[in-house]
Amino acid sequence: MFSTILVAYDGSDHADNALKLAAGLAKTHGAALHVVHTPQLDSPPIVLGAYVSQLDMPPSKEQYEEVGRKMIEKARQVAQAAGAGDIQGHIGRGAPADFILSTAKKIDADLIILGRRGLGAIRSIALGSVSNAVAHGAQCPCMTVI
Ligand code: ATP
Ligand code: MG
Repeated sequence: MFSTILVAYDGSDHADNALKLAAGLAKTHGAALHVVHTPQLDSPPIVLGAYVSQLDMPPSKEQYEEVGRKMIEKARQVAQAAGAGDIQGHIGRGAPADFILSTAKKIDADLIILGRRGLGAIRSIALGSVSNAVAHGAQCPCMTVI
């Protein structure tokens, strides 16, 4: 029996599959479903002659929260349609894998579900860097979904 399921969501097709599977399991087991998302807003600075953008203007806390809230809301609708009842959202900052692992510990997750790959462009290796790091660091069962 699972009682606390964490699903890591980045909006990718693999994460959609992970979310639907997690929501179905949450329904079957009567488990709480915790959706975790860390917005990835930091991009390399663009240097155009004397004009340097983003170096002195990192994304604000409000921007992170707005992007995070939208992603969690999108996930909530998918999870509800797939039958999950008790859905909670967590918005992180920094390295996605660290936030997934620390949230799993905090909520005492008994299952972590995430996509095998995400939004990254490189397809030559089986696991993405987040799914790889979480599989190595997880203190509970961890499932990767294709
Ligand atoms: P990489 O990011 O290493 O280039 P990738 O994007 O293909 O590769 P990962 O980032 O490891 O692969 O994504 C695997 C899964 O990890 C996703 O399907 C999702 O479940 C989770 N994940 C990735 N990034 C985030 C994030 N920013 N917030 C929440 N979950 C994430
Ligand atoms: Mg990625």
